[in-house]
This record gives sequence, C-alpha cells and structure tokens, in this order.
Amino acid sequence: MNRSDHLKVLIDEQALQERVKTLGRQIREDYGEEPITAIGVLKGSFIFMADLVRAIGGDVKVEFLGVSSYHGGTRSTGVVRITQDLRHPIEGQHCLIIEDIVDTGLTMDYLHRMLDVRGPKSLKTVSLLDKPANREIEGVDIDFVGFTIPDEFVVGYGLDLGELFRNLPYIAVYTP
Ligand code: 5GP
Repeated sequence: MNRSDHLKVLIDEQALQERVKTLGRQIREDYGEEPITAIGVLKGSFIFMADLVRAIGGDVKVEFLGVSSYHGGTRSTGVVRITQDLRHPIEGQHCLIIEDIVDTGLTMDYLHRMLDVRGPKSLKTVSLLDKPANREIEGVDIDFVGFTIPDEFVVGYGLDLGELFRNLPYIAVYTP
C-alpha cells in the first residue's frame, strides 16, 4: 500500500483557496480599518494563516503561539501545553486567534482564557475547520469558521500526522 491509499480528499485546493479568500474579506469587513494582531497557533495553522492574512489585507501584525496537544497520534490527550509564548504584549490590540481545527474545544478554550487576561482590546477566533462531534467544552467561541467537517481525522494544508502531510495543498481524511 502506498501513502496515497490512506488519503481521501475532503476539501480540494480550489475550495480551500476560495473559502479562505471569503473568510479574509469577511474578517476585514468586521474590523473595518482597525489594525489586527493575528495570532497563529503553531504548527497546524501556519499555511492557513499565510493565506488568510493576505486575504484579510490592511494592517495586520503576525504573532505565533506554540501549542502541543496531540503527541503524534490521532487522539487528543486533553492536555494543552504551551511550547512557545507570544513575543510581545497584546494589551489594547484587536487580536484574532487563528487555529487549524477545533475538535474537543479544549485548546481554543484554554488559549482564549490565557490571552483574554492580557487585556486585548478585543479577542476573536477563526478556525479553518470545525469538528463539532467531539466537543467537550460547551460554548467554545469560534467567530469565523471555514468548514464544518464530520468526525474524521484529517491531514494536509498544515495539519499533520506525526509531522507528515502538512505540505499537502488539500485537506484529506487519513485512514490507517
Ligand atoms: P482540541 O483541543 O479542539 O481537541 O484540538 C485542537 C488541536 O488538535 C488542533 O489544533 C489540532 O492540532 C489537533 N487536531 C484535532 N483534530 C485533528 C485532526 O482531525 N487532524 C489533525 N491533524 N489534528 C487534529
């Protein structure tokens, strides 16, 4: 069996690109001409973030937060570990957390609470993918969602399995 036998395209490259452009326009409209501090959650959001900040346009600062919640497998451990904090204070800034996927909601909930106490002017969230079937935290706030997907393990466009597949230009369901 070669590696493509494990992958089934769920969202192709064109659909991704179109949706990200629309999200970017929507986000820019929402903030008007205000500067935005985009906070990408590493590593999964790096490709989405690169496309999204270009689609948002206007004044955007780029910051990164390193988080690890899955330790190489396909199931969540439920433990959120910060591997790299922000380099600058976010007090008084319009901040937008950029995630690849919200699954149980533990990571987004943790990050929202962690950043909220730092006094941003506003704090919103965007996730490329939303997998609501596994939600463990009620009422996780996602202001902008790219695609709602079924309860399957996906890879590509930044999302990995054991650090591989991040460079696929599409989102695929991975079946072992
Ligand atoms: P949560 O804390 O919401 O359960 O999960 C958030 C993190 O788990 C995501 O940022 C992502 O790194 C990882 N994750 C959740 N579902 C998937 C998936 O289907 N594929 C991959 N590659 N990672 C996932």
